[in-house]
Amino acid sequence: MRRRITLGSGDPKRLFVGGLHGNEWRRTSAILERLSAPRRGTLAIIPKLTDRPYISTLDDRYYDAYGRILIAAINEIMPAIYLELHSYHDFDSLTDPRRIERRGVPAYIELEDGILIGSISPILRRRCFSMHNLCISIETPEKGGHRSQRVLKRLLDFTKDCESRDEFIDFILDRYPEQGRVAIENYKRFYGIE
Ligand SMILES: [Zn+2]
Repeated sequence: MRRRITLGSGDPKRLFVGGLHGNEWRRTSAILERLSAPRRGTLAIIPKLTDRPYISTLDDRYYDAYGRILIAAINEIMPAIYLELHSYHDFDSLTDPRRIERRGVPAYIELEDGILIGSISPILRRRCFSMHNLCISIETPEKGGHRSQRVLKRLLDFTKDCESRDEFIDFILDRYPEQGRVAIENYKRFYGIE
């Protein structure tokens, strides 16, 4: 049984998920488990979806395998704000500007100290979300130190209190003007948002 933590109640609803495949939970679960309740609304957390062998979330097979549990949780909670926390070792491939041609998703953008922001899988986005939802994917380095952990914690703390997509966009643009602009442009273009 996958453990789900529910903090707070009511709207807006948020869902944060870690341990989406393979060993990533080692770097993602503990920080999610330590989050506190949001100021308003609900924060649901699945700290470790699975520890079974890695399948990319960009692969259809993911959603036939353990991704089914993820889809069931999203359909049940219907979060306005959805965040996936991943862990990486290959910085260059995630941030490669040609990623959009190679993998069909925009490149991740580094915000600070190895913390990357990018798009969730278009398969999941199409199945479960509308353009009004905020759907983000965060990547934390497999061998990150205290600094990247601190940046990640700040980002998660802000997002768990966030009440709308626009509030999140304003925060990113304010905090990371340059990288934020590129990340938001990628996001909007990818999801067809004006
Ligand atoms: Zn991952």
